[in-house]
Amino acid sequence: MNFSSIIGHDRAVDILRRALANDALAHAYLFSGEPGIGKRLTAYALAAALNCEVPVPAGGCGACPACRRIAGGTHPDVRVVMPESRDEQLLATWSSKDIEKASDEIKIDQIRRAQESISLKPSEGRKKILIVDGAEAMNEASQNAFLKTLEEPPGDSLIILITSLPQSLLPTIRSRCQTLVFQPLPRHTLAEVIRENRGLSEEDAWFIAALSRGSLGRALAMDVQKEKAEREQFLALREGLAGMRDDEILTLADGIAKDRDGFDRLLDIGIERLRDLLVFHETGDARLLVFAGAAESRAGSPGPFVLEKVLQDMELLNRCRGLLERRISAQLVAENLFLKLARP
Ligand SMILES: [Zn+2]
Repeated sequence: MNFSSIIGHDRAVDILRRALANDALAHAYLFSGEPGIGKRLTAYALAAALNCEVPVPAGGCGACPACRRIAGGTHPDVRVVMPESRDEQLLATWSSKDIEKASDEIKIDQIRRAQESISLKPSEGRKKILIVDGAEAMNEASQNAFLKTLEEPPGDSLIILITSLPQSLLPTIRSRCQTLVFQPLPRHTLAEVIRENRGLSEEDAWFIAALSRGSLGRALAMDVQKEKAEREQFLALREGLAGMRDDEILTLADGIAKDRDGFDRLLDIGIERLRDLLVFHETGDARLLVFAGAAESRAGSPGPFVLEKVLQDMELLNRCRGLLERRISAQLVAENLFLKLARP
């Protein structure tokens, strides 16, 4: 693991490399950006640059024992703190009953142990590194305790906070860190990487790249067939509505409303579909669409494109999503929605 294995994020990597070269690293960094985008890899690469056994200017070699142990999470001077529920190495040692009880929070005793550990001298490397992955999961007590370390960081230490929700951190924490924002990867970059990595067809790679909102981690984990099937189902449902009787529509709506999360997901797909129609109308470029890969033959508009109708539907779906969030009966929302969509 070193800076050359990071895909995208040239700006963030450049800033870190320059700081390394000028011996001007901040005491604490806040890496913010979408989940799965490369923040943790970059934190490991920075840790490797600081503790690599081979003198490589402004970066780690990625191959020496120190770099390899950092990548594997076993270097004694690089400590990663995260909620139990996200710690795969920890959960692998737990029974399934205990896994259910894994905490989603970073608790104050985890922070205290990490503080003790970085206050000691490095045992093998040159710098002690503390990475808090999912920093937004620190509860208030943890954040307050953590603040003390940020106020007086031990001399040969570096702190890296990683989060997709920087606004959930205390302003006093944010202001003591140098923030690096990790931007979503461009769609063509993602498509290229996953085509090579997962052996996908160009069409599937573009489809997954569109769905993963710039996050390589998400793109690598996504199930192509499942995502396609969901969109095919949606299109079939949408097309079938027009020919149904009212009582058939109500039965269908009631069935879908029984699975609240599934219904919510269906609304997301509906909004994504309407966005596609707008984009296709504006650009005529099927490669910019999410649905282009899922249903090639139906990439464009199913009927004549009416801007007003598309915007109206979008407002309707957004309103339904809001009602579900406010815990309004899913059955009521679904019945109302499907009747409106079927009888414009
Ligand atoms: Zn190395």
